Amino acid sequence: MIQSFTIIEAKQKIAAGEITSKALTEACLERIKKQNGALNAFIQISETALKEAESIDVKRAAGGQELGVLAGIPIAVKANMLAKGLKATAGSRILENYVAPYDATVVERLRAAGAIILGVTNMDEFAMGSSTETSHFGQTHNPWNQTKVPGGSSGGSAAAVAADFVPGAFGSDTGGSIRQPASLCGVVGLKPTYGRVSRYGLMAMASSLDQIGPFARTVEDAALLLQVVEGDDPKDATTVAGGDTTVAELISEDVAGLRIGLPKEYFLEGMDERIRTSVFQAVEVLQQGGADVHEISLPHAEYALAAYYIIMPCESSSNLGRFDGMRYGYAASSGRTLMETYERSRGEGFGSEVKRRIMLGSYALSKGYYDAYYKKALQVRMLIRRDFDEVFKHVDAILTPTSPSVAWNIGEKFDDPLTMYLSDIYTISANLAAIPAMSLPCGFVDGLPVGLQLMGRPFGEETLFRLGKHYQTKTDWHTKRPEKNV
Ligand code: GLN
Repeated sequence: MIQSFTIIEAKQKIAAGEITSKALTEACLERIKKQNGALNAFIQISETALKEAESIDVKRAAGGQELGVLAGIPIAVKANMLAKGLKATAGSRILENYVAPYDATVVERLRAAGAIILGVTNMDEFAMGSSTETSHFGQTHNPWNQTKVPGGSSGGSAAAVAADFVPGAFGSDTGGSIRQPASLCGVVGLKPTYGRVSRYGLMAMASSLDQIGPFARTVEDAALLLQVVEGDDPKDATTVAGGDTTVAELISEDVAGLRIGLPKEYFLEGMDERIRTSVFQAVEVLQQGGADVHEISLPHAEYALAAYYIIMPCESSSNLGRFDGMRYGYAASSGRTLMETYERSRGEGFGSEVKRRIMLGSYALSKGYYDAYYKKALQVRMLIRRDFDEVFKHVDAILTPTSPSVAWNIGEKFDDPLTMYLSDIYTISANLAAIPAMSLPCGFVDGLPVGLQLMGRPFGEETLFRLGKHYQTKTDWHTKRPEKNV
């Protein structure tokens, strides 16, 4: 089935003339038509996708023109990234009818590489959540079992790749929003090093934590997508030059001598035994390849969640100040005073999780509390970073589960924010420490995918790719697809 090809397979088949970009795009659109009603992974499909694919085919047939590395490959983007002409709603009512007036840098680079932006994927409102249940545009369902959540906040992108709607997609990750849904949907998800990928044109959630990254079916595809979008961007001052991903096909799969750390704080009593077993089986595979595995300690890990749930709402509350119903998006009928108009637009436009975080953040930043909460959380963040600096003197990568559980029932944690927040326990440290981290499928529990997380040194993505590629050549978890795909 054409739509099940990996990006690299599809590239090869297109180059060999076995399939056209049009056929690939049509196959994806056909699957979306069949299944998206049930999954709600896409919230908008591009009407020009097929034409764009055709024009790439024409260009290719004519020859003589340089075609980009993603020429004719359909790619999806999360609804908080601007893709000119498509809706950028961030999953919120307040941006219900907002159409992107320009391309985010990531989208611009994807298009320059010849990718076809197939559509926009569903997400938790303003990327706040771990289940894609807070979207104004309805719940996304997990392709492995439609009664389960796909994870979040980039649940639409993860589900779209798992369901064979599209071979690759982009998401954003502030505390785990790429890796956790990748884990729950059984695909690869990468949060690059902070500063490696431009956020220009991404709606900011927590600016010191946000990073854009790819979803794919294989580690090599994820590397290829990173290679296309990474690098310095004058429009995002936090980007740094220096990340030059090796051409995906050339990534070494030799892991002999690589040192891997297992943090004892992550493998505590009470952890789901079946997840532990899957993860330790993966450790064995890497050991057999010659990797050296050690126990390590990240002594401040237990404070990460608390620090994150101060820093993130503080930054979010400030970033969301711009949505006032005046400049763009939803505007309530005007009140008697300007303040009342703002209050109505924001009151009606934002959902309850977003309001909860705006309130938490505004509280923690207010006079008298700033030092006690925000400043303290920043200090804890420093300690967490130092833990990682210290550990990376001795190991090349850190291995953990991505999520403490597999996908849960829709509705199960929705009214219990604290339990929902706890599902981010393994992912948030990488954002606080600004390091790269990747999730890849490593087994199943009750028919639902389990994810393995690899964290690396700043700009150490290559090591993660090596380990991941080795793992995927020795195992076949990443080739499994939900039955409904067939
Ligand atoms: N689930 C986390 C949260 O709700 C992470 C979100 C994200 O990475 N965007 O904040």
